[in-house]
Amino acid sequence: MSALPWRKGIVTRITEEAPQTRRYWIEVSDTDNFDFKPGQFVTLDLPISDKPAKRWRSYSIASWPDGSNVFELVIVLLEGGAGTTYIFNEVNVGYEFTFRGALGVFTLPDTIDKELFFICTGTGIAPFRSMVQYINLHNIPHKNIYLIFGCRQKCNLLYYDEMRELTVKVPLLHYIPTLSREEWEGKTGYVHSIYEDIIHTKPEALFFLCGWKNMIDEAKQRITAIGYDRKSIHQELYG
Ligand SMILES: Cc1cc2nc3c(=O)[nH]c(=O)nc-3n(C[C@H](O)[C@H](O)[C@H](O)COP(=O)(O)OP(=O)(O)OC[C@H]3O[C@@H](n4cnc5c(N)ncnc54)[C@H](O)[C@@H]3O)c2cc1C
Repeated sequence: MSALPWRKGIVTRITEEAPQTRRYWIEVSDTDNFDFKPGQFVTLDLPISDKPAKRWRSYSIASWPDGSNVFELVIVLLEGGAGTTYIFNEVNVGYEFTFRGALGVFTLPDTIDKELFFICTGTGIAPFRSMVQYINLHNIPHKNIYLIFGCRQKCNLLYYDEMRELTVKVPLLHYIPTLSREEWEGKTGYVHSIYEDIIHTKPEALFFLCGWKNMIDEAKQRITAIGYDRKSIHQELYG
């Protein structure tokens, strides 16, 4: 773990994005410009244990660097989870977080010369929202970008309208949400068959996987089975 200093951030806004999923806006107290790379995360130090390491929980930054000192997190409540139970019960507007960051190497390549597959479930969309918004804002040259987002039901489609609007603004952005537990006008089932259908022709590609272990393990296994090198796969494992 890096030795970045602990900093303070005040919660300025909270909204419900989906059942048991909230967006938190945090204003960093010691700077006017909180800079980070899209895809990075912060670590919160929550007062839930006497042992420092047991108090730390990491969250991807869901917003993009915009020259301000405010960043956004999107957090799902885990039933029985010590950190998220604390956040959902105790953290209101005005709460002061202690946090470290930004941290992490789950970031865009310097030059985007391959197709990008952003594969995620649930709040795993956070780093990809940051990356795609950043690509849009800075007009970064790119090839096809496939944002494949899995969740259970329509009500769990995080940032749905925003992602659809981005497909109009960002050329070659393909936003493909899929629901595992509800029929609708879009795709259904898990994320895996969706990228497999696209990569069977073996385009030059980089894979970014974000979310929980089951999805990531299965995606790595399937992508390498198709013949891609492990080096083409980047992951952010939430737990
Ligand atoms: C780099 C990084 C970035 C992360 N970014 C986010 C983010 O943007 N949003 C977010 O909501 N979470 C994110 N997480 C997960 C987060 O750090 C916590 O693990 C999560 O909030 C649960 O914390 P807890 O204290 O409530 O549960 P704990 O009491 O710590 O969790 C108990 C166990 O449940 C597992 N677990 C936790 N959540 C889930 C889940 N939803 N499904 C299946 N198993 C789970 C954990 O692996 C752990 O073994 C991230 C994790 C990492 C490492």
